[in-house]
Amino acid sequence: MAISATATEAKPVKTKISTFDEVNIFFDKAAERLDLDNGVRELLRQPWRELEVSLPVRMDDGKIRVFRGYRVQHNGARGPFKGGIRYHPDADKNEVRALASLMTWKSGLIDIPFGGAKGGVQCDPRTMSEGELNRLTRRYTLGIEPIIGVNEDIPAPDLGTNAQTMAWIMDAYSQTHGYSPGIVTGKPVELGGSVGRDAAPGRGTVYVMIEAARDLGIPLEGARVAVQGFGQVGSWAARLLHEQGSKIVALTDIGGGVYNPNGIDVRLALLHQLDTGTVAGLPDTDKISSKEMMALELEYLVPAAVERVIHEGNAPNIKAKVVVEAANHPTTPEADQILMDKGITVLPDILVNAGGVVVSELEWTQNLYQHQWELSRVNEELLKKMKGAYARVREVVELKGVSYREAAFLVGVGRVASVVKLRGFI
Ligand code: GLU
Repeated sequence: MAISATATEAKPVKTKISTFDEVNIFFDKAAERLDLDNGVRELLRQPWRELEVSLPVRMDDGKIRVFRGYRVQHNGARGPFKGGIRYHPDADKNEVRALASLMTWKSGLIDIPFGGAKGGVQCDPRTMSEGELNRLTRRYTLGIEPIIGVNEDIPAPDLGTNAQTMAWIMDAYSQTHGYSPGIVTGKPVELGGSVGRDAAPGRGTVYVMIEAARDLGIPLEGARVAVQGFGQVGSWAARLLHEQGSKIVALTDIGGGVYNPNGIDVRLALLHQLDTGTVAGLPDTDKISSKEMMALELEYLVPAAVERVIHEGNAPNIKAKVVVEAANHPTTPEADQILMDKGITVLPDILVNAGGVVVSELEWTQNLYQHQWELSRVNEELLKKMKGAYARVREVVELKGVSYREAAFLVGVGRVASVVKLRGFI
């Protein structure tokens, strides 16, 4: 695909195969190394259950619009299905399948008692009013209600959804099931949400980077970092990296990108984004396109938004020493190979961004006991989980001489496969 030098180029690249097939390339590699038999591979590759729903919504202009919604339950061998809900124009069935399967491997790798799922509604939430989003969310909740449940399938936020969306889901679900805070995670704290959940994916990213920085000998202090996608995950990662003494030299969001080789004041960038809706135009910075940002001399490049933004078209230009996948599936398999050949370390999504689901599990546990933990306890547990998973992955990297991604998939897939055997599915 041709790459144009505009802000829109950070969109996922269209490739010949689906995102789901791409994730399964990573899965198949792990299955091969684990020597799983064909039946087990097939069982682990395919989603267990998929629901597609039609969602009529009365828009503010009085007209009815019908949206497509999905919930894919990829694998529930290790516990209730778990995964976010994405509101995005590209959230089609194959994308949701891919993201659901990543949740299965992520929960396995991080070792929390959940399976993997994902939901999606094909819509553009940025063009919808709060009332329209509220009505759409209630319709969607009713649509997927037969297959979700506090002990069956627990949604959470993802791209385009947030704590408010979760509050609407909880309310819609509670109308027929009674007060059920445990039906979703990532809720507002007042409704049983966990403190620290909003920051968790970004915080977990930085916890992994602290560990990796030591092993790779690339200190975070003074490191040049670029964050592609200054949203919920990227902005927290940038803030916490700033605290580690890193220099955030470039940031992009949907409205454009900004660059300052001496470092961007992340707090000011956040305020500017709050004010204007984008980081573009931030004082004391130069304009930068996503293409230019990808090619900067960096220690760490952090894609933190949509998938497939690193592809065969731009991977050859990447000069960062480390790619930190705060987004889900930001790197296509071809690009992954290119980066590997160039000697660039890729810290994979299922490890890096697992902080969200880790604190989701803590939130769910608090809900089951009607408890509310303090931030220090939540962050301590998060640190323990992220450090533990990183250490296991690093061990496999060293033992087997594989990449971090291969190691992460080996651990994640291996854990799910062994439970499938123990449960006697096959
Ligand atoms: N959407 C987040 C993810 O991709 C969090 C999922 C969850 O907390 O269930 O990991």
